[in-house]
Amino acid sequence: MEEDRTRKAAQKRRSPKCDGEMKDEAIRIAMAAALGVVAAGGNLLGGYFVVRRDWPRKFLHYFLSLGAGYMLAVAFAEIIPESVSLGGREAFLWVLAGFFLIHLFEHTIAPHFHFGEETHDGEVAHHHARRTAILGLAIHTFFDGVAIAAGFLVSSWLGWVIFVAVFLHKLPEGFTVASLVLASGKGKASAIWAAAALGIATLVGVALTSLLQGQLRYALPLAGGVTVYVAATDLLPEVNRHPSWRTAVLVFTGVVILLIMKHLLHG
Ligand SMILES: [Zn+2]
Ligand SMILES: [Zn+2]
Repeated sequence: MEEDRTRKAAQKRRSPKCDGEMKDEAIRIAMAAALGVVAAGGNLLGGYFVVRRDWPRKFLHYFLSLGAGYMLAVAFAEIIPESVSLGGREAFLWVLAGFFLIHLFEHTIAPHFHFGEETHDGEVAHHHARRTAILGLAIHTFFDGVAIAAGFLVSSWLGWVIFVAVFLHKLPEGFTVASLVLASGKGKASAIWAAAALGIATLVGVALTSLLQGQLRYALPLAGGVTVYVAATDLLPEVNRHPSWRTAVLVFTGVVILLIMKHLLHG
């Protein structure tokens, strides 16, 4: 009896906090949805630049450089450590799985894919090459959405730093897919649709992750592996194709920005 009463009292004490926590989580999920829409818009905008033909190539290249450094810093300093506290050492296996899942779809199944402007018309002329490249990129962008939502399910801090990592390469993603579609001989409308499809895949990733919260211990490290893959094998090689002192500085700036923010804002 006595025990029962203390338990009830404890539950009573805890319940207002639980309500507060639930409200806080609802706000974070809404935030993830809103930022998912912003990220998806980045894909569309990237596609639009390509279709307009007078897009700021240099500017987008700076985004890629900053994004590569920043994304790797977020993955190694935030996403992977947080995944380990959620799921223990097993988390590293899911990081590995995320890494090679994207390798499978972007570079094993697809005969020709690389980040950045597509200029090899002959390579992507066949519809198989075009479709598989778009599929690979769509699976990658699905995990951009998973990463944003999984981040916000852990904390607002993690959600925001992941959103920035995603956003920094969203425009380049849009111009990659749109230029690929144009190089394959398709028209402007198809190019915009392909960029929109990447945005939609991102939103699906946000929605599914918000619904399947119980799978967070798998979703977060998987998204971490995808982030490492995209930054290290898609973005960095594209940065290195056009070396300049500015891009070199920006890569390291991306790393340092995250470390400074972590130090100042997140202990
Ligand atoms: Zn190419
Ligand atoms: Zn992406």
